[in-house]
Amino acid sequence: LCNPLIDPVNPSHATFDLFVQAQSCKDVKHHFAELCKQLDINPKDFRSFYGKLKERLNYWKAKALWAKLDKRASHADYQQGKACTKNKCLVLGAGPCGLRVAIELSLLGAQVVVLEKREAFTRNNVLHLWPYTICDLRALGAKKFYGKFCTGSLDHISIRQLQLILLKVSLLLGVEVHTGVEFQGLIEPSGDSGWTANLQPRSHPASAFQFDVFISAGGGRFVPDGFKHKELRGKLAIGITANFINRNTAEEAQVAEISGVARIYNQKFFQDLLAQTGIDLENIVYYKDDTHYFVMTAKKKSLLKKGVIKQDYSNADELLAPVNVDREALHSYAHDAAHFSTGGKLPDLQFARSQSGQPDVAMFDFTCMHRAENASFVKERRGKKLLMALVGDCLVEPFWPLGTGIARGFLAAFDTAWMVRSWGMGIPHLKVLAERESVYQLLSQTTPENTSKNYAAYSIDPKTRYQRVNLSAIHSNQVRNQETTKSGS
Ligand code: FAD
Repeated sequence: LCNPLIDPVNPSHATFDLFVQAQSCKDVKHHFAELCKQLDINPKDFRSFYGKLKERLNYWKAKALWAKLDKRASHADYQQGKACTKNKCLVLGAGPCGLRVAIELSLLGAQVVVLEKREAFTRNNVLHLWPYTICDLRALGAKKFYGKFCTGSLDHISIRQLQLILLKVSLLLGVEVHTGVEFQGLIEPSGDSGWTANLQPRSHPASAFQFDVFISAGGGRFVPDGFKHKELRGKLAIGITANFINRNTAEEAQVAEISGVARIYNQKFFQDLLAQTGIDLENIVYYKDDTHYFVMTAKKKSLLKKGVIKQDYSNADELLAPVNVDREALHSYAHDAAHFSTGGKLPDLQFARSQSGQPDVAMFDFTCMHRAENASFVKERRGKKLLMALVGDCLVEPFWPLGTGIARGFLAAFDTAWMVRSWGMGIPHLKVLAERESVYQLLSQTTPENTSKNYAAYSIDPKTRYQRVNLSAIHSNQVRNQETTKSGS
């Protein structure tokens, strides 16, 4: 009656499948909580969580994923997950870079809490992936969570899919991820309490979390106190992104992607575009992903002529202010550019919807890019030290058409994890800061060509990734102003 060779039906196996396949932040969290309940594992028990999960789930389908995560975790850099057992890390932001650094910190053995103000992952826009990031994500099991991940020669992923993959890996490794909670500032130690965070909602349980490492991955221009931003003002650059519904038909599958038709390489294309449509672009990229995604840099004159921008202003903020933009004209502009550049072969180009239900088209100003002056900082109050770091867009703002956001964002995430490792191992903090800044000097010049091609050997150790890195390029004396101490009573 009962075949002993067949596993008894185990509800946790089905829940695990649902978790792996979940397509929204809410569903990932829901199935994860269910899985923990069914297997009777407390996710707060971060140190033994992953081990218990593997043991109790005992599901053949999960084994290939465990093999990948085990391989990563066994890297010597992590010292069997003991390099940072005394460290408690707060990561601000569950964007791709916040989650990526959280994974590394948990592999180092630290307790990691991630705070994210949003409840949902909604960005359709598509990110370019350098070969090393594809290799890195595959090694974390990306394909198990998202079967279409970088099949064939594909080298991109939508922001939301990437967040979903990294959220799942983070949770499996014992990272605590809270959504719907906004970080509003640091609270200095007082009495017996160490560093904590001021959160909204105020009563959120994570406000009791005391930490000695704070990592901001809040994106864009989010920089916490203590860090300074440099403004890099270039010539006016207006970016437009547009997403169209991908119905995955055979016809759509035939249309070739455009991986970056820079003006200098294909003058005729842009001349024809201008002559036939009045649209004047510097560049355009088209990726076929969950949506048909286009990103382009448009010339101001043609935007004015086509009525997208109503009035000319020299100030980019005024120029692109919502009141000065005709949305309907913007939609036509983006539609016609997409139609022309794909030779009219994408049938029935219909806009995908953004979270607010509007056609997913946006215009951005890339004229003024920001870059943090330094990547790290140490604060000491009442004898309690806090290591602070920036990763991702809030460290260096990327120019989307070049697709450097994830590549440089992940490099900084690894460099930051390496810094936390040194911190955890008790290396004097001025040396920790000096090393981090030495590596940071290289970040903005990195390209796929000048970084190591041995992707399989990439680790959090900067020497495995940068071809020429001098970890003492900056001396401890030069980072003294990146440390503030107040003793207090
Ligand atoms: P983000 O992905 O921006 O993540 C930061 C996270 O921090 C967000 O989830 C945010 O909600 C959260 N956060 C911020 N402040 C707080 C706070 N106080 N408390 C709690 N949480 C907070 N790049 C491209 O290459 N092409 C594109 O087309 C493109 N489109 C984009 C569209 C939008 C609307 C945005 C915001 C970014 C876009 N980018 C694009 C940039 C790309 O998303 C980033 O380079 C990439 O996601 C890595 O960024 P990150 O993890 O550093 O930050």
